[in-house]
Amino acid sequence: MPGELKVIQHPGSGSGGDACTYMWACAICDENETCQKDKEGHSRWLVAKRMERIEHKVLIMSNKGGVGKSTVTTNLAVSLALKGYEVGICDMDIHGPNIPKMVGAEGQKLKISTTGGIIPHQAYNLKIASMSFLLQNSDDPIIWRDAYKYEFINQLLGGVEWNDLNFLLVDLPPGTGNESVTTIDLIPNVSGVVIVTTPQEVALLDSRKSVSFAKDSEIPIIGIVENMSGLDCPHCGQHIEVFRKGGGETSAADMGVPFLGRIPLDPEVVTQSDAGEPFAMFYSDTPTAEAFHSIANKVDQFCKKSGSLLRIAPKRH
Ligand code: ADP
Repeated sequence: MPGELKVIQHPGSGSGGDACTYMWACAICDENETCQKDKEGHSRWLVAKRMERIEHKVLIMSNKGGVGKSTVTTNLAVSLALKGYEVGICDMDIHGPNIPKMVGAEGQKLKISTTGGIIPHQAYNLKIASMSFLLQNSDDPIIWRDAYKYEFINQLLGGVEWNDLNFLLVDLPPGTGNESVTTIDLIPNVSGVVIVTTPQEVALLDSRKSVSFAKDSEIPIIGIVENMSGLDCPHCGQHIEVFRKGGGETSAADMGVPFLGRIPLDPEVVTQSDAGEPFAMFYSDTPTAEAFHSIANKVDQFCKKSGSLLRIAPKRH
């Protein structure tokens, strides 16, 4: 029987400060009898081992919060799952883990399997792991030093039993800080990054930073998504460019990276997110959902073209 996940070991806590805290790794290690790896080597090894079973690892990033990064992650994941793929979401936003709320899984707790790995939460055919599942109270703030965050990121990538996936979407926290650097450093062969922005001109500046970060980190750029792009008034039908238009597309052209498309500012997206029912699944044939599906298709095509050594046949749900 799976048990309740209770602790994240603090590095250096307990008796042996340098002892390996990834005991469950031994269950899947061929060299568990002779393993001499140190703690860092061991956790890196474990992440690499988990990632070996994932065909495409896609990062979703934005340079600031509130532009819809988690909304885009959730709906792209749903669109890919609707195409028959096995999809996981790794919610790396330690300080604002909103993915569980968006799939109606708030308050759920992760369990540990009999082999000691973490079982991801399953919602709408998606496998999900998030800091939110480890909080006693969703109002609790996370006040952690970098070493503790490093340990957590290792656990989310290496401790979770992702098993065979076609896509793992990693929702990075806003900005280009430590969590993003650590995640990129730990995941071997990242397939690419999707950069989410809003249309106003300041978005140019923000998405430039994300593009430069991805280029410096040698991560392929799948493209830029312009979210909250124009509102069709639900009362009079008039089209309003609330945040102006074209920031994302201009950034993409300026920086020489693909533009993946626009997602309208749609009040129903907020309602559905708050209700824990992903828009692209519940309103799959609306223009807004079509925008998510079209971007998901481009992500799929990019990943297929760039290739992966691994091939996992998509399941039809
Ligand atoms: P981030 O992850 O960048 O902080 P979120 O995905 O949490 O942003 O989105 C912030 C808020 O904006 C949420 O309330 C979400 O429902 C809303 N939102 C995101 N995208 C859209 C959209 N296209 N139309 C309407 N509301 C949106």
